[in-house]
Amino acid sequence: MDTGTMRRCDLAIVGGGMVGLSLAAALQGLPLDVVVIEPVLPESPDQPSFDERTTALSNGSRRILEGIGVWPAVDRDATPILGIHVSDRGRFGTARLTAAEQGVPALGHTLTNRLLGAALRDACARGGRTTLLCPASVESVDPTDQTIALQVRGAWQGRLEARLVVAADGAQSLVRRELGIGAEVSDYRQVAVIASLKPGRAHSHVAYERFTPDGPIAVLPLAGGRCTAVWTLEPAAAQRAMAMDDGDFMAALQDAFGFRLGRLSEPGRRFAYPLSLTRAERQAGPRAVMIGNAAQGLHPVAGQGFNLGLRDVAVLAEVLADELATAGSTFDPGHAALLERFERWREEDRRHVIGFTDGLVRLFSSKLPVIGLARDVGMVLFDLMTPAKHAFARVTMGLTGRGARLARGLPL
Ligand SMILES: Cc1cc2nc3c(=O)[nH]c(=O)nc-3n(C[C@H](O)[C@H](O)[C@H](O)COP(=O)(O)OP(=O)(O)OC[C@H]3O[C@@H](n4cnc5c(N)ncnc54)[C@H](O)[C@@H]3O)c2cc1C
Repeated sequence: MDTGTMRRCDLAIVGGGMVGLSLAAALQGLPLDVVVIEPVLPESPDQPSFDERTTALSNGSRRILEGIGVWPAVDRDATPILGIHVSDRGRFGTARLTAAEQGVPALGHTLTNRLLGAALRDACARGGRTTLLCPASVESVDPTDQTIALQVRGAWQGRLEARLVVAADGAQSLVRRELGIGAEVSDYRQVAVIASLKPGRAHSHVAYERFTPDGPIAVLPLAGGRCTAVWTLEPAAAQRAMAMDDGDFMAALQDAFGFRLGRLSEPGRRFAYPLSLTRAERQAGPRAVMIGNAAQGLHPVAGQGFNLGLRDVAVLAEVLADELATAGSTFDPGHAALLERFERWREEDRRHVIGFTDGLVRLFSSKLPVIGLARDVGMVLFDLMTPAKHAFARVTMGLTGRGARLARGLPL
């Protein structure tokens, strides 16, 4: 077989999606030769990361994006979230959280993935330190003592030798499999159907989370007065929702969501995402680390997946920057002690957010009446209890765990 050419670099990022490109952008200020390998062109309708979804970004994520110079390009298009409203269909409990009571200008922002992707690509191009191999994909991984070799196929093909490989290749990570690192996968047997829509009443920058017996519905505020709905359904119901015409789809969503936002109309194109929890057993391996969905793929119910992945980015960038500053000419980005430091640092935040998200899915999926009552009481108490609200707000605003410098608004 023709193995093509050979190239060396300091750091190879496998996967140029939301998290992989964020890391490339974060590393622009460091004297490192970084190569990103991504199989799907950014403008392709099949780009799996920078697609039509909207991401709810925590305040911590905003600070990281500011620190890596990406926020100014998206600031105009990002919509502030000033309130969160949680309810349970057919039950009495509701809970509200507002930016004003938390003493912050916004609880977070929404932004479409495509716009974030364009801004990340521009930041990498401006920095001039990243080579993007696209379309190209990694086919095998072979770690040795001093380097880790990737076999790459596509627009560039050959053997790429890096001192550190960062797996940012999503929940089905090939790098993780090739390194023999196990992952616990639990299929929620749910599918998220997403579509943008026009609300009959102004969204007033409030994000709604409504739990229904068929699954949760999130309706997030967007720029231009529109909203985006993320409707979680069992697979057969999701298939039916995808097959409906626009009128029937709006009527079904309206019935499940209610009239808090008036009459819902003008749905955009629908997309479906099967949902599972994927948790890699380790975040570090030989000359390799896993970040974003390659390390943990979460249910979108709490909007935490990318936010958590971006904190992986901030910590990894900091660990590398500090090592560069102290090790000088002996700097080795794939050094085992450095990778262990990264893994230990990420442990608590990761465990916390995975547990919080998985717990929320299970709590609100339960059809047991006693659990339903406990949810109602919990939500009413939550609405009254400032410390509980504050703790919840800290998770949703991305303030859990020991924060990296970028997440605290400090330079790398
Ligand atoms: C419906 C929905 C709504 C969501 N909403 C939110 C939200 O509001 N807030 C939030 O924080 N998170 C949210 N998330 C989660 C968020 O989208 C993910 O956490 C995020 O996309 C993870 O990015 P990633 O780059 O790690 O992985 P991915 O987005 O999966 O990207 C992986 C990249 O790797 C590439 N790749 C794959 N295989 C290879 C290979 N062999 N070689 C090279 N490259 C490869 C792929 O082409 C892709 O570009 C949501 C998820 C869903 C499904």
